[in-house]
Amino acid sequence: MSASDPDAYLLGNYAKAALTLVRGQGLRVWDTGGREYLDFAGGIAVTGLGHCHPKWVARVQAQTATLTHSSNLYHNTPKLQLAQALVERIGPGRMFFCNSGAEANETLLKLARLHGRARENGVEGRRYKVICAKNAFHGRTFGGMAATPQEKIQGGFRPMLDGFAFGELNNLASFEALIDDQTAAIFVETIQGESGINVASPEFLRGLRALCDRHQLLLMVDEVQCGIGRTGKFLACAHSGIQPDAVGLAKGLGGGFPIGAVWIAEKFASLFHPGSHGNTFGGNPLACTAALAVLEIMDEEKLIAHVNTVGPAFHQKLRALAAEVPRLVTEVRGQGFMVGVQLASDPGPVVAALREAGLLVVAAGGNVIRLLPALTATAADLDAAVAILRCVFTAWPKS
Ligand SMILES: *Cc1c(COP(=O)(O)O)cnc(C)c1O
Repeated sequence: MSASDPDAYLLGNYAKAALTLVRGQGLRVWDTGGREYLDFAGGIAVTGLGHCHPKWVARVQAQTATLTHSSNLYHNTPKLQLAQALVERIGPGRMFFCNSGAEANETLLKLARLHGRARENGVEGRRYKVICAKNAFHGRTFGGMAATPQEKIQGGFRPMLDGFAFGELNNLASFEALIDDQTAAIFVETIQGESGINVASPEFLRGLRALCDRHQLLLMVDEVQCGIGRTGKFLACAHSGIQPDAVGLAKGLGGGFPIGAVWIAEKFASLFHPGSHGNTFGGNPLACTAALAVLEIMDEEKLIAHVNTVGPAFHQKLRALAAEVPRLVTEVRGQGFMVGVQLASDPGPVVAALREAGLLVVAAGGNVIRLLPALTATAADLDAAVAILRCVFTAWPKS
C-alpha cells in the first residue's frame, strides 16, 4: 500500500482499474493523464445520452438547487411525472422506484412471492419458485445471486436463497419441464448482458408468455441493461411483441444518475399493499429528474429512431470486419446499440489493446467484447470505433 496506489483505500472486490477518468463529453472521456478515449463502455450501458449532455446537466443542476430528497412519506413532483412517463411508454401499470438494478430485481422476486401466495389463497411458502435462465445475471444481492447460477457470482456466499430453477435460454421445453405446482414466475433477461449478449429469441419469449398464461405464472423480464431504447425499442421485449407482467429497469434510466425502477402490470400491482415494500432513497426528486430528462431528451432527439437508422450499418460493418479476422472474431451479435463481438480467446488482452488504441469497451462472459455506445453516437462515432477495432484486430498476432 502506498499513496500512489489508487486502490490503497478500496475494497479489493473489483479487478484493478487501468485508468482513472476525470471528465466526459458526449462519446468522449478523458483520464488523469489527459488522454482522450472513445467511450463504447458507456459506464456499462448507463450513459445513454453520452456524458454531460447539456440539457440533462441543466435539469439535474436546477433540481439540485430545488429539492433533492423527500422520502416516501411525501410525494414529489418529479417522481409522479416519471411514473406517468414510464407507464405511458410501457403500458397500463404501476411504478416502484429504487436505486439500482439489483434492488429492482429484488422487488420482482418479492412480487413473485406475493403472486404465489395469492395463487394459494393466501398461504405463503407453498408456491414460491422462480424459473430463470442458465447464464443469467440478475445482480449481487442475495435474491439476485440466487437467480444467477454462476460459480463466480455465488461462490463463497452459500447457502443461496431457496426456490430457483434454471432452464436453457431459447429452449422453451427446458423451461416448461421445470414448471410444477410450486412455481410462481418465470424471470429472464430479454438480452443477457453480462454473460455475453445472448438474445432471447422472439419465438422463445412468445413461448414463455404462452406458458405463463397457461400456468398462471408471472412473466418478469430483467431489462436493467437492455431497456431504455438501447436495442431500438423502449423495451427490448417489444421486439417480440410480448407484454410482460413486470419489468426491472436501471442502468440507462438515469443517464448516469443512479436510479432503479420496476413496472408492474395493473392486474398484479395490487399484490403490494402499504407497508409491504419500501426504499428510503427510491423515487427521490433528483434521480427522478435525471430520468425524466433522459426520457424527454430521447424523445426530442428521436434517439430510438436514430438507433434504428444507424444500427444496421454498424452491425454490417462489424460483421464485415469479423469476416476479415475469422481466427480472432467468431461472431457478432446483438440488437441496436447492444452488440457482442465474440472472440476465439480471452477478451482481456484485446480490451486492453483497444484501450491503448483509444477505445473503451466492456468484456463479458463467453469471451465477448460488449459495445454499448450512447444512443447519441453518430454514424461517424460508430465508424471511428470500427476503425479502431479494425486496427487492433488486424494487427492481432495470429496464434
Ligand atoms: C447490471 C445488471 C443488474 C444489476 O444492476 P446493479 O445496478 O449493478 O445492481 C441486474 N440485471 C442485469 C441484466 C444487469 O445488467
